[in-house]
Amino acid sequence: MLEVLRLGHRHGRDDRISTHVGLTARQWGADEVVFSGDEDSSMIQSQRDIVDRWGGEISIRYENSWRKEISEFEGLRVHLTMYGERINEMEDVLRDRLSDEKDLLVIVGAEKVPRWVYENVEFNVSVGNQPHSEIAALAVFLDRVKEGEIKQEFDRAEIEVEPSEDRKLTREK
Ligand code: SAM
Repeated sequence: MLEVLRLGHRHGRDDRISTHVGLTARQWGADEVVFSGDEDSSMIQSQRDIVDRWGGEISIRYENSWRKEISEFEGLRVHLTMYGERINEMEDVLRDRLSDEKDLLVIVGAEKVPRWVYENVEFNVSVGNQPHSEIAALAVFLDRVKEGEIKQEFDRAEIEVEPSEDRKLTREK
């Protein structure tokens, strides 16, 4: 089970970034994406609409109590932060731990992430020690953990892409 928790969503300001966190999580096979911060039903609905059309079994929901979401998660909890341990040094350790634990919670922030998060996860991991983006950090992290495997099949899709050398091709299913 792969869950992604997006902390501190700010309505208006973060709509696009939060949506892309959800879509990135979906592309890399997340079973669940949970948003915390401002409750934003239109941002969540826009992702559900994409799932309805493009398929997949992912659950997308809001949770006010992010502390509860983290503390009650049974499995490996990883917080992505520029201040964390370097991914190049951690990826083998993480894969080892995941062969026992199976379930993975990946946490990304928005602005300032409370210290509590750093202290209540198994690992704080950086994707480079420079500030960049939760979307980039999530994509690179999941790609490393999954050793380059990119999900291709999405159940119940109404539409899918026909990969093409030179044009936009889709087919209704
Ligand atoms: N000062 C923040 C931090 O702690 O990483 C940067 C804020 S950034 C706008 C929002 C989120 O992107 C962070 O909470 C973190 O999850 C992710 N992020 C940004 N840079 C990262 C990096 N180099 N490594 C891992 N995650 C990063």
